[in-house]
Amino acid sequence: MPNGGSDCCATCWFNRTNRGEAGYQHRDSPGEDHCEVRDLSIENPFYTYCANHPHRRPDRDPIPIGPVERFAGDYSTNAREVWQPSPDTEEIRRHLLDLLSEIFLHIPADRYPIGPSLASVIMRQLGEFREPRAVRDLEWICDNCPDFLAKPARAALEQIQE
Ligand code: SF4
Repeated sequence: MPNGGSDCCATCWFNRTNRGEAGYQHRDSPGEDHCEVRDLSIENPFYTYCANHPHRRPDRDPIPIGPVERFAGDYSTNAREVWQPSPDTEEIRRHLLDLLSEIFLHIPADRYPIGPSLASVIMRQLGEFREPRAVRDLEWICDNCPDFLAKPARAALEQIQE
């Protein structure tokens, strides 16, 4: 049976019904699918995703990174669309800036091939926040990194500076 990816809320240790464990072993446990990171009821856990999932943040990161996305309905592309935007607090912005400043440390842990990469989510969210403190690192990435990093960095810079 096709699916939209195993990096979903159904397998996330931050989904209350999974009792702090990643994987499918609690899928028949009673209880509501509820994201403890975002205090959000999850309507369709097998088709809902975010960058805090253990496939992208294996060191259990509980500060929201980017939006919550859902499967957009096309199995030929596995495309996703934003379902809930990121909350916006100083702690969340500071965390994104910290992740950006050490982005090379996080790329090896982000091994999942479907959906947006952790690096792209970090940069896209800082762009959407129009966060001026990100400009210096984004400019450095634009000037020194391969396209898979430089492209989202350029897009984020354009948003911040428009
Ligand atoms: S929204 Fe993200 S952190 Fe929350 S349960 Fe789903 S994948 Fe995990």
